[in-house]
Amino acid sequence: MTATGRRGHGSRLNTATRRVKDELVKSARRAYEIGLQTGDGGNLSGRVTGTDLIVIKASGVSFGECTPDNLVTVNLQGEIVHGERVPSRELFTHLAIYTARPEILGICHCHGPWSIACAEFYPQIRCISLHARSKIGPIPVLKVAGHGDLKVKKAVEALLAKCPGLKAFVQARHGIFAIAESVIRAEHHAELVEETAQIAWLVAMRKPPQVS
Ligand SMILES: [Zn+2]
Repeated sequence: MTATGRRGHGSRLNTATRRVKDELVKSARRAYEIGLQTGDGGNLSGRVTGTDLIVIKASGVSFGECTPDNLVTVNLQGEIVHGERVPSRELFTHLAIYTARPEILGICHCHGPWSIACAEFYPQIRCISLHARSKIGPIPVLKVAGHGDLKVKKAVEALLAKCPGLKAFVQARHGIFAIAESVIRAEHHAELVEETAQIAWLVAMRKPPQVS
């Protein structure tokens, strides 16, 4: 490859990486502002199209504090390629998803209270609304203890193998993992999972009004 060709490739890569970072910051801020994720919990990541590079939120950084400069870029083996911070502790769960599903370009993980509450009682989050059915479909509950460790990684790999088109799942006592073809869409899916769990909970718990 010529020097000009290398520069062209590098420039395209920089542009693609910047686009992913911009989407991550935008999505993180939105999730924080609407209360989908509080404090410094949760994480989100995006894959740079056509590469094995993943940009992920750093550990201990709130969704509300995400900037392009405090994100971390890693490869599919989890090695840091760029960034000063420590990647989110759930990095290996994200990498398991990107490895199993090469078409996935965004993951949003957050600790939605309605989803966690439903996951205590049900094997899946019941999709009642037509919107949830058409946009996401079945939302299984993954009953595995652990926090971004090897046991969780293996359980996620098994779930993805069993459900090839999966768009979201809820890890019991932990939270939502929403996956999509972009970071923006993954965050939208996470919102929809939480809304779906709220509807499922309300329908399950509330007695229908009496008709006089
Ligand atoms: Zn988490």
